[in-house]
Amino acid sequence: MNIQEHFNVQCGCGVEAPLRTTLTNPNVGRRFLECVNYKSDNTCKYFDWVDPPTCERGKDFGNWIVKKNMDLDKDVEDLRKQILHVKKTDTDLKGEIRVLKERENEFGQKMEQWQKREGMVCNDDQLYE
Ligand SMILES: [Zn+2]
Repeated sequence: MNIQEHFNVQCGCGVEAPLRTTLTNPNVGRRFLECVNYKSDNTCKYFDWVDPPTCERGKDFGNWIVKKNMDLDKDVEDLRKQILHVKKTDTDLKGEIRVLKERENEFGQKMEQWQKREGMVCNDDQLYE
């Protein structure tokens, strides 16, 4: 039996009210049952706390957890942006390397042509004469 089945409360709509946990102050972590139509339909306002009121220590701790979670979400978002930036930089650098290698090849070919024209290159067979 899951925790939802344990409560199994039907509201005035005849629908089983889902078990939820609030993530807002001042009841962070406190569970409740609420009609699925509670916010969209004014005819049913079924709502009931499942857990007893949270003590002050629990409220403080819950608020700390919520703030910590928000900070971590922000850190994750910042890291995602940094990863995208690094990936773009990597792509840009690979493009620059490709261009530089093409230029290096062109330079090598021109150097070879120049050396041949200036008679600075001897063929291998000339070495053994
Ligand atoms: Zn209802």
